[in-house]
Amino acid sequence: MSAALALLGCGEVEYGVEADGERLPVIDMHLHPGDWSHTPPQTQEFLAGRFPFPFQLTPERLAGRVLSAEGLASELDGAGIGTGVLLAVYAPRTVGIATNEDVIADVKSAPSRFFGLASLRVDRWNADEATELARLRTALGEPGMVGVKLAHAHQLFRMDDPRYFSIYALAGELGKPVYLHTGTSPFPGTAQAPPYTDPTYLEAAIAGHPQTTFILGHLGYDFKDKQLGALAACIDLASRYPNVYLEPSALGSRSSDPTGANLKAVMRRLREAGLVDRVIYGSDGPQSPGFVKEYLGRTVTAMREAGYSRDEMRAVLAGNFVRVFAVAEPAQ
Ligand SMILES: [Zn+2]
Repeated sequence: MSAALALLGCGEVEYGVEADGERLPVIDMHLHPGDWSHTPPQTQEFLAGRFPFPFQLTPERLAGRVLSAEGLASELDGAGIGTGVLLAVYAPRTVGIATNEDVIADVKSAPSRFFGLASLRVDRWNADEATELARLRTALGEPGMVGVKLAHAHQLFRMDDPRYFSIYALAGELGKPVYLHTGTSPFPGTAQAPPYTDPTYLEAAIAGHPQTTFILGHLGYDFKDKQLGALAACIDLASRYPNVYLEPSALGSRSSDPTGANLKAVMRRLREAGLVDRVIYGSDGPQSPGFVKEYLGRTVTAMREAGYSRDEMRAVLAGNFVRVFAVAEPAQ
């Protein structure tokens, strides 16, 4: 693997990816902490099927270990990554719940390693909109909570439904970027239809909230058929709107892109479109032990093969995140 992790003496870890004799810092903007008991049974079964033997026999033990703040920090250490971003999720009918309070506590436990994205429930919106927005505002006031996480496909609300535009308005008012899942999803119960998965349906929200940053997660990848899916729509939106950013997590994993050809094609097309300064690295880990490291290696390989310069790699791996989220560059 080219994403070299240098292990120094006494177990000390040197962070970053080696490129042309320089060490580039890495921020992984897409990590899921969690509580296995808050994951719906059919999703537990789906996830357990992905764990390597023998962990799948006792998935709750592995999940408990990998999903804790300590477990996530050790997955980052193993990958040579200094900083990770933990995502809150409220999708009780599909992927489960990781509360804002838990993410805030994880970030506080290791403020030099973690940032957090807050989220909110949308399933009783007509009754609870004001309460949920107030909760989101409170969570975003906590230290290290730098943005908002949404997943229309998992939270089962349409990308073009204006009833939810108040979320984007609040994020813009507070200067907190919004990360959105785009593309289909393998999780049981996901809404797969285009209004939930195709970022074309986000255009009214993007155009109507120029002060809000939208980060299109997974680049509209079609995880069902392992195809590029809505990549062209993502590139089109980013080309026309300066408040659109792109995040290539999960789509290039061993299970979703076995040969690595799709991730390489994606990285090449983003560069050809002149959008390197809009790409923010994330993995969608931890998934299973070693995944965070493997995904970084696959992404760095894809960028090298697609002709990224050292400075372009530096921008994707940490520089763009630092600029967009207005945080300090991580120490090496
Ligand atoms: Zn994710």
